[in-house]
Amino acid sequence: MTPAGPRKTAAYIGALAGLGLILAACSSGADPAAYPEDDIDIIVPFSAGGPTDTVTRMIAEPMSQELGVQLVVQNVDGAGGTVGAGQAATAEPDGYTVLMHHIGMSTAPALYDDLAYDPIADFKPVGLVTEVPMTIVGSSDFEPTTFEEFVSHVQENADTVTMAHAGEGSASNLCGLLLMDALGVEVTAVPYDGTGPAMAELVGGQVDFMCDQTTNTTGQIEAGEVKAYAVTTPERIEALPDLPTTAEGGQPGIEVSVWHGLYVPAETPDEVVTELTDALQVALADQTVVDQMADLGTAPVAADQATPEAHATLLQEQTETWGDIIGAGQGG
Ligand code: ASP
Repeated sequence: MTPAGPRKTAAYIGALAGLGLILAACSSGADPAAYPEDDIDIIVPFSAGGPTDTVTRMIAEPMSQELGVQLVVQNVDGAGGTVGAGQAATAEPDGYTVLMHHIGMSTAPALYDDLAYDPIADFKPVGLVTEVPMTIVGSSDFEPTTFEEFVSHVQENADTVTMAHAGEGSASNLCGLLLMDALGVEVTAVPYDGTGPAMAELVGGQVDFMCDQTTNTTGQIEAGEVKAYAVTTPERIEALPDLPTTAEGGQPGIEVSVWHGLYVPAETPDEVVTELTDALQVALADQTVVDQMADLGTAPVAADQATPEAHATLLQEQTETWGDIIGAGQGG
């Protein structure tokens, strides 16, 4: 076989380079005008079966229908949601990797010295999804029955009481920090990769209490599988009308709601973000989604909040707010 001459070699190299570019464009789905052409991974940075996972699966179905491709939930858990968020931050910025995260996006910078990503600089917000109340719940054999009893029991037995949470930077961790600060005690925290598995252990009595979204606790409260002490919103909620607020129980400092939003890596083209935002808006107006959320004590955000602009504003504000609170030692 005759070796290729210089002109032939240049032509081969040119052809290979062209093929490489085409393959790269195909594998990264790089044509924003044609988006989406393939299934989309949606990273949930907590375990399957927990509240973030539940809300994601609610909107994934109508978003898939709207986009004409499947949104495939990928649970990438660990370190309070920072493992999954870190993976999403470095994903190909082509719209085929989307992150669902919650309030933890705004608390992680203050809680982690070595956070591998910048929640503001490394992502483009797609839109807010929902804001979920939290509840303080105990295992059925945990002694206290009312919120007032819970407060005094935890204060008097802090050295033996255990609290489940989903890792440093998670919403349950944040609520636990507010609670311990308000009660002036420190209890033993038991971290899980999500509050789905934490709830299973709470129901089994392996841990005493947890503060978690209603999207993970309403079913167990209604079924009598856990004791419910209080809801962390200023007003009582419709789904659990008998549950007092933390303020009614004399603890207004334990007030927090968990907002959720969708993100893509920062370099993702705006046309792609617009497609995702439009599909999110359709999903949030879907009556099945509205009903499912209502059953679990929450609701989709208003359409003007399911936008990149409103989401970016809230993320910025919340990062500053929690940075100040945690930095001032409220969370320690
Ligand atoms: N509710 C969890 C948290 O505390 C996360 C989850 O499992 O969805 O952040």
